[in-house]
Parts: sequence; C-alpha cells; structure tokens
Amino acid sequence: MKKVLTGLIMLASILAVTDVSLTFYFQKLAYSAVQDLGTKTVDTAAKPAPESRQAHFPILVFHHIRDYQPSDTKNDRTFIIPPADFEKQLKYLSDNDYSFITISQLADYLAGGNDLPPKPIAITFDDGDVNQYTNAFLILKKYNIIATFYIFVNPIGVSKNYLTWEEVKAMSDAGMEIGSHGWYHLFLDKLSDGQELAEIDQEIVKSQAIIEQQLGRPVVSFGYPFGTYNDDVVARIKAAGYNSARGIVNGKTHRSDSLFNLKAYFITADFDRFINLVK
Ligand SMILES: [Zn+2]
Repeated sequence: MKKVLTGLIMLASILAVTDVSLTFYFQKLAYSAVQDLGTKTVDTAAKPAPESRQAHFPILVFHHIRDYQPSDTKNDRTFIIPPADFEKQLKYLSDNDYSFITISQLADYLAGGNDLPPKPIAITFDDGDVNQYTNAFLILKKYNIIATFYIFVNPIGVSKNYLTWEEVKAMSDAGMEIGSHGWYHLFLDKLSDGQELAEIDQEIVKSQAIIEQQLGRPVVSFGYPFGTYNDDVVARIKAAGYNSARGIVNGKTHRSDSLFNLKAYFITADFDRFINLVK
C-alpha cells in the first residue's frame, strides 16, 4: 500500500504541472489510500469496526446572516439571522467548549478515520449567499470557528447576491470546508432519465470539478438542494467521489451507514430554540 501511495503522490506531483483535473483525480485516490492505510494498519485494535461507528451531535444549517429588511416576509425571516444574533449563538458555543468540525471530518470519522474531538458540533451554510462572507466569515474568524459551506455554482461570481470565487477561495484558505450544493440548485430526485442525465451530471460532477479547479482542493462533501434525493442520486454522488451528503431531516445521530443522508437542523434567530438544539 505504501508503494502505491507513494506512486500516486509522485504521479499527482508530476501531473500538478501538466493537468489540473487529473491531479485532483489522483489526489482523491491518494486520499483514499491514506484512509485505507489508516484503517488497516493503524489503531485497528483500539477502534470499533467502521460500520459500527456513530456520533451524536447536531449539524447546524445557516442561510442568510444579515439584518432584516422591511421587505422580508415572515417566512424569509426564518432563513435570516441578524449578525448580532449569530454572534450570540457562536459565543455561546465557544464559551461552552464545543469543538467545531467540518463535515469531511465527520465523514472521515464515520468511515473509520480519525477520532472526533470532545463535544463536537458542525456549522454549515447553504447556497453561498454573499452575506456568508461579508458578515458570517468575520464572526467565524473572531471565534476561531471552522464551518462547511455548501455552494451552488451558477451564481458564484455572477450575481451580486452571491459569493465571488475570490471570497470562496479566501474562506477555503482560512480553513473552511467548501462543499457542492449543485449547479442550479435543482430538485435532484426529479432528474432521473433521458436528457436529464446531462443535467444531473452537471449538478453533481461538473459542480464539483469547477469548485475543485477554483480552489485547488478536492471537494468531498455534497449538500442536497432542498434536501431531496433518491437511490439513483446517492449512487451518482458516491460515484463522483463525494464521501458524504447532508440532507435537512432533523436528527443528531450520524452513523457510518447514513453518510449520504446526514441529518441536520435549520437554525433561526430564536436563541432559546438554539440552546435547546445544541444541548
Ligand atoms: Zn439550498
């Protein structure tokens, strides 16, 4: 295995100067090989078999971090948290010794990799709204908190309401995980046959490739747009090399066999509800 791994890393290094997309492919293979090595030759006596692993903690889902505007409807406001309220939530977690992990860290653990820190919690953001950079990122950095951002590619760098690639890169370089949330944010379970195959490929495979090209890092986490999927969608996500997919069904227990159906909670500005969810 070591020889294979060294070979892959060397090959990836050589390809790094020639072909970016192939390099990512080999980085992923090398990454898998490292995981493989870790589970088969290290710590096997001390850890339970991967299929028996589970973790119990909430994955939090945020959307807009900005002040309310008069035009925001009551429904809109369930997806908006004013920065001051967001900071209050993060300060609570920070003051109470939560350990912040990315979704790929959770996936790694459930697949038999590294242990999780004590009192873990995962913060995620959906959609790539620009205020996730202009407001949320500043507050995350202030408290030294890492999070996972699921972005959908189409509006990035195009719409003023969404992140630019420079902003996505800056967050990635600061330790934030960037996952794919598709290309056009479609109901993936509705795309299953005929000419729609090209569309589902764009949502799952091409979105991943573009983000990887922009960031220079593998993208291994997927967030289902609208939380919807079916068996075919899951198979395609696995085939593309993602190692987890997060839905929006409520729940705190994450198991090795639920990596492609990770449960999570939408977070609102309601602080009492927030406390009850994270306790
Ligand atoms: Zn979304």
